[in-house]
Amino acid sequence: MKLGIVGLPNVGKSTLFNAITQAGAESANYPFCTIEPNVGTVLVPDYRIDELVKMHQPDKVTYATIEFVDIAGLVKGASKGEGLGNKFLSNIREVDAVVHVVRAFEDPNIVHVEGSVDPIRDIETINLELILSDLEILDRRIDKTKKALKGGDKKFQEQLDFLERLHETLENGKTARSMEMSDDERQWLSDVSLLTLKPVIYAANVSEDDYSNAETQNPWVQKIREFAAAEKSEVMVISARIEEEIAALDPEEKQLFLDELGVAESGLDKLIKASYKLLGLISYLTAGKPEVRAWTIQKGTKAPQAAGKIHTDFERGFIRAEVVAFDDLMACGSMAAAKEKGLVRSEGKDYVVKDGDIILFRFNV
Ligand code: GDP
Repeated sequence: MKLGIVGLPNVGKSTLFNAITQAGAESANYPFCTIEPNVGTVLVPDYRIDELVKMHQPDKVTYATIEFVDIAGLVKGASKGEGLGNKFLSNIREVDAVVHVVRAFEDPNIVHVEGSVDPIRDIETINLELILSDLEILDRRIDKTKKALKGGDKKFQEQLDFLERLHETLENGKTARSMEMSDDERQWLSDVSLLTLKPVIYAANVSEDDYSNAETQNPWVQKIREFAAAEKSEVMVISARIEEEIAALDPEEKQLFLDELGVAESGLDKLIKASYKLLGLISYLTAGKPEVRAWTIQKGTKAPQAAGKIHTDFERGFIRAEVVAFDDLMACGSMAAAKEKGLVRSEGKDYVVKDGDIILFRFNV
């Protein structure tokens, strides 16, 4: 999974990104970790892995990972291809979801590009660039559909009506994701990559002092929540400065620091959870002496396709899945005890994998 961090200059993107890369330093040895200055990989914290490690004492432990791409430099005029504008827009096209950092902290020492702190105006400034880029793409798509309709195929009329409605939405300064769409309509957009259709988490960057009580104390958080709700986006409160401090701590110190702040988890951990939720992702686990590992799948994925995440052979030759729920396994204390109690189920090809399932796949080679 790849998340892109965007936002106006001086809102705290680099501070957050530095925290991410520092936190991710231990995962830098990942074989698939690209060594690019603007990409940081972090492990997805998972208490279930930690418990399974205690149970199996495995040779290898593999957490799920998330890649964060720092898409700095998105400014007014980007959609016109000014400066590096186009490059930033194409960076956004490649990510699964966007983390849009907005400044919700006052600090007279840090210049705001627009002269004052106003998160909604800032969000709209960035969104406008993305909307303008989407309009260009949509215009071409509409032309194509009109041609197809002229060719006599009536079924394109419905499609054209929808595309024109979407055009109007964008022209009114609203994002594509804010529009209600049926599955069919969404399908019609599958060949165009609209930036404003990407799922978004607005990260309200508040000051260190505000962090614990931001929901009530910070004047902008509620406004950002209202804005985001109207377009079905997520919001989370972070303090990039605090994240930077946390990233430098070892796990024990980190817990103490969080306790002192009176918060349950770090902003980065919250961000990871929020992105799983936003993208409809869950994890299942495989566990044994050689390796304990988490695998990320889309909610609703059936057993053979989940197996395919591990290897295409597992999907092709799928016979059945031996499944135990994490809580059941923990309650029993061992795999053998869980089997004895009949809690290890044998599931077939229609089984929909659940979050926290521990699975052993049986397959033909
Ligand atoms: P970017 O341009 O969006 O990448 O912004 P930076 O991360 O470089 O941050 C710009 C300035 O704002 C830096 O001096 C940061 O230290 C500062 N900054 C970032 N987050 C906070 C915050 O929560 N509170 C305060 N007071 N300053 C912050």
